[in-house]
Amino acid sequence: MIRKTRLFTPGPTPLLPAAQFAMAAADIHHRTPEFRALFLKVLGQLKVFIGTQNDVLLLSCSGTGAMEASVSNITSPGDRVLVLTAGKFGERWVDLAKAFGCVVDVIQKPYGETFDLAEIKAALKPEHKAVYMQASETSTGASHNVEAVAALVKGTDTLLIVDGITGLGTQTFDVDGWGVDILIGGSQKAVMIPPGLAYLSVSEKAWKAMDAAKSPRYYFDLRKERKNQVKGETAYTPAVALVAGLGAALDYIAGQAGGDLEKGRIALIDNAQVNAAATRAGLVALGFTLFAPASSSAAATAVAVPEGMDSGVVVKALKAKFSLVTANGQGTMQGKIFRVAHLGFFDFLDTVAFMGAMEHIAKETLGLPVVFGQGVAAAQEVFAKTASSH
Ligand SMILES: *Cc1c(COP(=O)(O)O)cnc(C)c1O
Repeated sequence: MIRKTRLFTPGPTPLLPAAQFAMAAADIHHRTPEFRALFLKVLGQLKVFIGTQNDVLLLSCSGTGAMEASVSNITSPGDRVLVLTAGKFGERWVDLAKAFGCVVDVIQKPYGETFDLAEIKAALKPEHKAVYMQASETSTGASHNVEAVAALVKGTDTLLIVDGITGLGTQTFDVDGWGVDILIGGSQKAVMIPPGLAYLSVSEKAWKAMDAAKSPRYYFDLRKERKNQVKGETAYTPAVALVAGLGAALDYIAGQAGGDLEKGRIALIDNAQVNAAATRAGLVALGFTLFAPASSSAAATAVAVPEGMDSGVVVKALKAKFSLVTANGQGTMQGKIFRVAHLGFFDFLDTVAFMGAMEHIAKETLGLPVVFGQGVAAAQEVFAKTASSH
């Protein structure tokens, strides 16, 4: 039998064919009217995709570059910041803030959990320059309540910086209403194109903070980028082909709702949520335990394997038998969990395919008492219920 490679990793995610064609055709120079028109069009689309009136910038780097810019552009060495962390990406905020000399207060929760609002409220001090958090902690499959944290920060001098790299396209944000000062996205996640671009919205409050910030920065100088990007330019050579691909992907998302990108964004979020719910139901029906059951992210599901088993075996078997690529746990979660993605270019039939493969692995590789159809049936029930309510 032949096998067909299927990416189920929470970044990079499967590529949209229309975006791949646009990338292949993008041999244009970046200092031309053609590129400026494309770039301004994509920046406009990103505003709608993020759902904000704030400035949106596009950077040629992976998501971490925009995270770094969100530290270096608004802090000075010695500034106090508050980081909320419950996973590997939260830990990245801690490391970044320390690298730029910030005094870092940390609220840390065990992997798989989310935060306690009362604890954040008690820890938040007027001297905190910024609060850093994830919307979706991709390493644990947990979703965090950005709206509730924003309500605590709003009206203070503190900035709220959110890594929405797997939150965008899988959960709803009211960036301007809630007062999210910086919200970051990445190209290899919900927007269906390869790694290499990060995008972020920046509030007026954040721009003001940049005037006083003294941390060193050069490539990721957001004020320099803002001056250029309003004219459809970038400070340095941008990843031209990826910009073309992103435009095509955002066109596709709009096309899913008759050309209305705002509605298309909602459809994309809904899609991830339905696929995540169906996947959770299917995996539980097969005897697996969810790693973040109380606050599950729609971006990716993290699954614990039964006690005494190695999650790496599942990842390897899915790859060997079906060419289906999932992600092992990171750090101390390696061997304990595996992660399967729902963000971006997945539809419900992809979920059915994944569940069909999982039934084989559960039964034959792990020796669980599985009857074929058991996981798929549970997923189908979730789909049928949501389809009838739409
Ligand atoms: C993918 C991801 C990132 C960015 O990682 P890069 O490898 O720099 O693209 C950051 N935060 C979260 C939550 C992610 O899922």
